[in-house]
Amino acid sequence: MIPPDHPRYISLLYRERLVEKYKEGIVVIQGLIAHGRGEAFDYILGERTIPPAERAEKAAAALLLSAKRPVISVNGNAAALVPRELVELSKALNAPLEVNLFYRSEERAKKIAELLKAHGAERVLWRPDYELEGLSSERRKVSREGIASADVVLVALEDGDRTEALKKLGKKVIAIDLNPLSRTARMADITIVDNVIRAIPNISKFVKQTKKEEIEEILKNFNNRRNLIESVKWIRKWLDNALDLL
Ligand code: ATP
Ligand code: MG
Repeated sequence: MIPPDHPRYISLLYRERLVEKYKEGIVVIQGLIAHGRGEAFDYILGERTIPPAERAEKAAAALLLSAKRPVISVNGNAAALVPRELVELSKALNAPLEVNLFYRSEERAKKIAELLKAHGAERVLWRPDYELEGLSSERRKVSREGIASADVVLVALEDGDRTEALKKLGKKVIAIDLNPLSRTARMADITIVDNVIRAIPNISKFVKQTKKEEIEEILKNFNNRRNLIESVKWIRKWLDNALDLL
């Protein structure tokens, strides 16, 4: 039990959840390391949604609303951290959740699908029937009715290689990645430099709030490179303020 008055309560709570889901076979051990890298970036963002991230979340909602075939790609960590929130977003968009794993096994994919269904998911794609071109990792295995035919794909804790492959296939990619300098972050059409824990509920909120007539304007005004630069500047600012602690 983590005492609720611990200064790092929330962060520790999510660690506990990942460890629990690791034991259940949903998260892989490499996923724990990836989360650690994410935590480090989250720390120097002040563990909150910075303004450029909020702008990206608004743009992501607009792009998802304008999509013909949006798909939410889910990996082990995302499913462990925000299963209920992913289902909520999937319902708000009427978009399927697709299990897509770097360290893929049939058993783990099935467990993730079952976890999402236990949280109310109606459409979960987890049995691939197609292979994406230009990608050699297990992530190439996708569903025809999901990622293969999607026009917009939302990804979290993503691999740069797959982002590149999805882009080459003409898809728009929205990435949630706490590292604004990763290949994924630089390659995506919209990069949300925020923790999935905050990003997914925020996107859902904006999906519900955004009016049809606002979509075009939101997308026109969003520039991913400019937004990434803003994100790095926020980190720099946080570090400058942190000097006072020393
Ligand atoms: P790339 O291949 O895009 O350059 P990478 O190889 O540096 O990325 P990976 O280890 O493949 O990175 O993926 C982990 C990424 O996910 C890291 O950039 C990390 O910051 C991010 N990440 C980890 N946990 C979270 C989280 N909870 N929310 C958002 N991003 C996260
Ligand atoms: Mg990588």
